[in-house]
Amino acid sequence: MKKLILFGPPGAGKGTFSSQIKKVVTEIVHISTGDIFRENLKNETPLGLKAKSYMDKGELVPDEVVIDMVRDRLNKEDAKKSGFILDGFPRTLHQAEALSEITEVDLLLLLQVSRDIIFKRILGRYSCNNCGEIYNKYTLPTKVEGICDKCGAEIKFEQRSDDNEETLKSRLDAYEKNAKPLIKYYKKRGKLKKVDATDTLSFTDDDIKQIIGI
Ligand code: ADP
Ligand code: ZN
Repeated sequence: MKKLILFGPPGAGKGTFSSQIKKVVTEIVHISTGDIFRENLKNETPLGLKAKSYMDKGELVPDEVVIDMVRDRLNKEDAKKSGFILDGFPRTLHQAEALSEITEVDLLLLLQVSRDIIFKRILGRYSCNNCGEIYNKYTLPTKVEGICDKCGAEIKFEQRSDDNEETLKSRLDAYEKNAKPLIKYYKKRGKLKKVDATDTLSFTDDDIKQIIGI
């Protein structure tokens, strides 16, 4: 049973890498704080409304809000029993300290990519509005233009509202401001592992197993 954190700048490929890990360890629970916020925003829940103004600006949602949300999720049976991948949390030292009171993780995987790749991935990113599959206009287009590879629907492609140049800059600033102390925190505890995330799709199942230590 593995308890993992995926950490890295926006566009590092945390979502993609999570799916790759899930293919190897099918029962592991994927917990993306960004996805949970977007789902709440879509359904206009109180949590979604609280997060909206921050997300629109590319700023971090206040720690207390995120920490309570993650604590509730990690205390559910599935995460306790099968382990988890935390994708997008912790993002600040304070969140890391709070997490250590909830449970002890095995590893923080630091996904590293160049700035050039970050911009291409984020600004070219779009998804199928029918099934949610993610594509990229520069690096991962659909096989047939306008048709989703996964669900076959003729689709309207959706872009995340925070995937624009201005918001991306704020998201990168927030990352850079918080990354150093957080990385140091896990390094000191012997839990830091760096992963070159330029091309994780070329990783085999054995590569993944080796990275997560199973
Ligand atoms: P990305 O990593 O590509 O910027 P995410 O989907 O992880 O995007 O998060 C989108 C937004 O949700 C963030 O810009 C932030 O406003 C909010 N958010 C997600 N996770 C956290 C967190 N751990 N702490 C604070 N805010 C968060
Ligand atoms: Zn689709």
